[in-house]
Amino acid sequence: MAAVAVPRWRVPLADVVVTEADIAAVADVYRSGWLSQGPRAKEFEEAFAQYTGAEHAVAVTNCTAALHLISMAAGLGAGDEIVVPSLTFVATANAIAYTGATPVFADVAGLTEPWLDPASVRARITPRTKAIVSMAYGGHPGETAALAALADEHGLLLLEDAAHALGTRLGGRHLGTFGWAGAYSFFSNKNLSVGEGGMVVCSDPDVAARLRLLRSHGMTTLSWDRHRGHAAGYDVVAMGHNFRIDEARCALGLSRLARLDDENGRRALLDRRYRELLSGVPGVEAALAPVADATLAHHLFTVVLPAGADRDAVRQALADQGIQTSLHYPPAHRFQVYAEAAADLPVTDAYSARAVTLPMYAHMTEEQVEIVVAALAGALA
Ligand SMILES: *Cc1c(COP(=O)(O)O)cnc(C)c1O
Repeated sequence: MAAVAVPRWRVPLADVVVTEADIAAVADVYRSGWLSQGPRAKEFEEAFAQYTGAEHAVAVTNCTAALHLISMAAGLGAGDEIVVPSLTFVATANAIAYTGATPVFADVAGLTEPWLDPASVRARITPRTKAIVSMAYGGHPGETAALAALADEHGLLLLEDAAHALGTRLGGRHLGTFGWAGAYSFFSNKNLSVGEGGMVVCSDPDVAARLRLLRSHGMTTLSWDRHRGHAAGYDVVAMGHNFRIDEARCALGLSRLARLDDENGRRALLDRRYRELLSGVPGVEAALAPVADATLAHHLFTVVLPAGADRDAVRQALADQGIQTSLHYPPAHRFQVYAEAAADLPVTDAYSARAVTLPMYAHMTEEQVEIVVAALAGALA
């Protein structure tokens, strides 16, 4: 059977290397004859909890399901207001809306600081507010610590969308573990990719039990337990979903987790190289500046173009040289489905109109960074 043809960019936006060890780990699962959630999932959860320092980790089929599960376990519902960023992947807001709760969009901190601004969040807190969702844009901790303090002050839950932030530590503590619960993504373009996958972490054992229950139809026993003869029947005690992940993806996640810190370290080096080279390109500002006392996942590298630059033309000039770029993100408050959530978000609008995401992946070379920056400088000249 021929390999699937993957488009060939000279410098793709993101790329993933699957090693022979990864493939062997996946093949082992298929040889074992047990494919759906079972012992590999448990092993992956334990390794993930150990890596992040979380008390509990619950593996799920993707990060959207992880966020949805958190929203359900938190008991969000109609009449509740949840303050969320608009400058995020739409799933952050959708996961709230699935429960009947209302996402209330807040603005980001600055043109090179595309994370939730605590002052904007504070201004949107009402007696109906139940939670704040933070999103670690590009793997940057942003104002997560301040948002945790703000949530505490108002008796709100802090929920973390840490889809970009696997491996980010602030003061030694992993992003995703500052709040009531955190969600991670293992989608193809994320730092730890298995194709589709996600994880929830939390510290409270009762919350973990609730997450596990709702992950699998609200059923009191698992197929794996019944298969092993550890359980005979089951009851259904809550309206759950099927958000389970299969064994092959957990085996791949386990295999890849072992080298994540090395890969993130490579991203850090490339991030530094980008910043050095961009300091010589007038008008272009790199976002997401590194911070003291933090290790960053460097999921994205984004730049803000000069006001008035023709962004489409710049992106086309790069594409003509085989360089893939992207936009993170078209803001959620501008989508038709959120038309009713009218929001005045000037910084989000400015950032989403002027920012471009440049290629970033662990095995990108410094020469490729030079190619990208030279092309960008040429396009703006
Ligand atoms: C990728 C992503 C998600 C959704 O993750 P999936 O695993 O694709 O469901 C949610 N939030 C953010 C910020 C993301 O980047």
